Amino acid sequence: MTRPEGPGRPALLVAGTAAAIAAAPAAILAALAASDAILPQTAGWLALGLAVAGLLAGLVWYRDLERLARALARAEAGRPPEDLPRLPPLRRVAEAADRLASSIRARSQEVDSLSRAAVRIVEGLPDPLIVLDREGRPVTLNAAARECFTPPGAATADLGALLRHPALRAAVDRAAEGGASESVAVTLPVPVERELVVQVIGLDPPLPDGGRILLVLSDRTRERRIEQMRADFIANANHELRTPLASLIGFIETLRGPAADDREAQARFLGIMAEQAQRMSRLIEDMLSLSRIEMSEHTPPKGEADLVALVRRTAEALEPRIAARRMRIELDLAEGVRPIIADSDQLAQVIANLLDNAVKYGRDGGRIGIRLAPTPPAGARPAGIALAVSDDGPGIPRQHIPRLTERFYRVDAARSRAIGGTGLGLAIVKHILNRHRGSLEIASEEGKGSTFTVWLPATAPERG
Ligand code: ADP
Repeated sequence: MTRPEGPGRPALLVAGTAAAIAAAPAAILAALAASDAILPQTAGWLALGLAVAGLLAGLVWYRDLERLARALARAEAGRPPEDLPRLPPLRRVAEAADRLASSIRARSQEVDSLSRAAVRIVEGLPDPLIVLDREGRPVTLNAAARECFTPPGAATADLGALLRHPALRAAVDRAAEGGASESVAVTLPVPVERELVVQVIGLDPPLPDGGRILLVLSDRTRERRIEQMRADFIANANHELRTPLASLIGFIETLRGPAADDREAQARFLGIMAEQAQRMSRLIEDMLSLSRIEMSEHTPPKGEADLVALVRRTAEALEPRIAARRMRIELDLAEGVRPIIADSDQLAQVIANLLDNAVKYGRDGGRIGIRLAPTPPAGARPAGIALAVSDDGPGIPRQHIPRLTERFYRVDAARSRAIGGTGLGLAIVKHILNRHRGSLEIASEEGKGSTFTVWLPATAPERG
């Protein structure tokens, strides 16, 4: 607390100083005058001289101390020194104080920018990061954590389900008691199932904001799903290949044994065997084609594709099968569809797979439509070309539509197999379109038919 300085105080202080300086010599003079060692008049003059000298000295000190006080206040406020004390020791104190204040300011700026950089790094980390206090309540969340745990439409993150998880709760309690860091696997069932690995790290000493436990989350959902898909693919491929192989082995044994002399049975069995062998060959071809496409998926396509010509050629090649099912094909190829930069063979495969499905799943005597039209730029989407293949077959129940492009996913596996399907056609289409930065849209109404619409960016080839 500072004492208020009244208007009389400086004068009092100066007078006090003068009195303190002059008191002892004045007492000696008084004693000398009393003992007649000097004349009282001389003593009076000397005492007056002493009082004046004391007053001057007090004034000089008082002024300089005032200057020092102002210099310290300016140093504290970060302003440059001005009107420094005249007495050398006081001037040195003022200068040293100024240097000390600037070095403290530089340090605190450094600490400030370091802590801002730390906040930026933590905010920018791709993994969710959460800091809890000693009681396990959230103190800080970085941007990834907020994004991960803020329900759609809500303004704040909801960590309830995560922090209530029993294994995580126990690890947090151990960390709060000073336990070593550990990692906990957590599955959150809602709103979408997520598999997380949470690293629980005790912070000792705690952070200035009370943070005591650090949670670093890594979302393993995608990796797990990919692992699962790979495992499913191998199991499916194995099953799809083994079934015709087992039937071939069975027929070979029958032909060698019980049917060795039965010409009629032999002809029938050989027919089935040829069908099974073709099925295996189609399957292997589709699997190889899928893995080739996957390998090239990250390299942009080169070359040029004329979709109009590709559609005409593919439709012609399907003529015999279309005629066999008494179907008719209607082409609606708009003007202004120019060649684009694309892998022509791969786009031919896209068209062939979609048309093949329309023939396979369309209705006998039905109609297959092929529409090709340019699309104008819309939002972030550049100008493109839309190719729609539609049929008036039985359609696809709504719940199956999102999964149709998964490998081996079929609405009716037995039916697909019986008509020569491998379950890989649409997966191949999807991967080719990924490579071309295109998209596939499936619309279907049960009992009315389906439309598969491919969209491709219309990047025109450069003309030399
Ligand atoms: P598949 O070799 O079985 O035809 P696809 O990947 O081409 O494999 O198609 C996956 C599944 O999607 C098919 O088994 C079928 O159930 C369904 N499907 C595809 N195209 C059509 C269509 N035009 N009409 C009805 N269902 C279709």
